[in-house]
Amino acid sequence: MKIAIVGAGVIGVTTAYELALDGHTVTVFEQRSATAEEASFATGGLLAPAVLDPWSAPGTARTPAVLGRHATLHLGRSISLAELSWLRRWRRAARASARTGAPLPPLVALERLARYSHARLQHLTESLDLVFERSTGTLLLLRTPQDAQGLAPVLKALRDAGTAVRELDADAARTIEPGLSPSLPLSGALHLPEGMAGNCRQFALLLRQAAQQRGTQFEFGTRIARLTSAPAGVQLEGESTPRPFDAVVLCAGVQSAALLQPLGPRLPLVALYGSSISAPLREELHAPLAAVVDVQTQTTMARLGQRVRVSGGAELGRSTPQAHPQTLGTLYRVLGECFPGGISHASGLQMWRGARPMLPDGPPMVGQSAVPGLWLNLGHGASGWALACGSARALADQIAGKTPDIDLEGLGAQRF
Ligand SMILES: Cc1cc2nc3c(=O)[nH]c(=O)nc-3n(C[C@H](O)[C@H](O)[C@H](O)COP(=O)(O)OP(=O)(O)OC[C@H]3O[C@@H](n4cnc5c(N)ncnc54)[C@H](O)[C@@H]3O)c2cc1C
Repeated sequence: MKIAIVGAGVIGVTTAYELALDGHTVTVFEQRSATAEEASFATGGLLAPAVLDPWSAPGTARTPAVLGRHATLHLGRSISLAELSWLRRWRRAARASARTGAPLPPLVALERLARYSHARLQHLTESLDLVFERSTGTLLLLRTPQDAQGLAPVLKALRDAGTAVRELDADAARTIEPGLSPSLPLSGALHLPEGMAGNCRQFALLLRQAAQQRGTQFEFGTRIARLTSAPAGVQLEGESTPRPFDAVVLCAGVQSAALLQPLGPRLPLVALYGSSISAPLREELHAPLAAVVDVQTQTTMARLGQRVRVSGGAELGRSTPQAHPQTLGTLYRVLGECFPGGISHASGLQMWRGARPMLPDGPPMVGQSAVPGLWLNLGHGASGWALACGSARALADQIAGKTPDIDLEGLGAQRF
């Protein structure tokens, strides 16, 4: 088939690779001048288990507070009705999950996709000999015993799926991450030896090359002005007639809702902004060796080669390009509290702000839309890097008319 993909973030690139692997003729349209320039640029790096990110799905962390000193979500002045509606649904689901301590079905669906995705990523990494910055093992820091309470649903989902989760005291946590500050008060920690972190952008660039070697065309600097149906196609900005394709796959991250709107009902997709700071190592012995999550502040720290990346923050209804000063303050503070002296502030600091494409229940949409010929692979929220390889393979199987290797219940593209 002749297939168009809109978007060359990590989701578009992995989709292009899988479709090219199946023998399709693939063209990727990307408005930016390169791969992974938007949400996939400087992600926190958490790869496995994907559901450890506090914003993966309702029930992976405490119900988000929007007021007070412990607010985990900052609301902007220009918040829209759609964003408020998203927030209401998310908080209601998080409270329901916290009441029972059990994972809701969307969290279970997300965990299943994440596990499949991790296996697919490992297969691609080995079979294509991809070399990118990565580390093994994830440590969750529990500053107080209450920190563990909010994690009950996600830990149950992980344990039910057979993931090893070790409960540690503070001394044992410091053996795993010797750079942890001796003055950081810790009531304990959880260690997931099979956890993994990695550099999303590097992986996307490598997989783009692999897709190109299989004949995929990338048209950078090309903005899709609208999608068309009957026949399926894309109309490029500056062109007067649409280009027809046998199938179009929408992987446009947070901009997917605007492209879809003229063709059907509004997608309940919102942008949840966050930031990351990447800094060169100053003193190896004082820096994290792998991924570390500070549960209380919902901040992740990861070792990526000769750099440390700290990431977090959640801002809704705030469309300025600059990072929220409070978010940046928290990232610096948490890194300083956990790994003082680990990074160099002198030069080479990279600050980044990106938008997580969030649906109200957590999991992405991976499948056929109501519009003939239009397929969706979008809404990967806080775990797009971790979910990309599995979502792409499952979508390619559906386009080929094959039954995917995983159960896609809860990931349907027409579920809202
Ligand atoms: C602070 C932060 C930390 C994160 N940490 C993690 C993490 O630790 N682990 C994890 O798994 N995930 C993490 N994520 C989430 C992850 O970054 C996203 O889920 C993922 O990058 C989404 O990928 P995407 O390809 O859907 O979107 P994008 O990377 O945004 O790609 C969409 C592409 O579509 C293009 N596009 C849009 N509209 C058009 C158009 N009209 N024409 C042409 N091109 C178009 C855009 O230019 C863009 O390149 C984090 C996100 C943030 C913000």
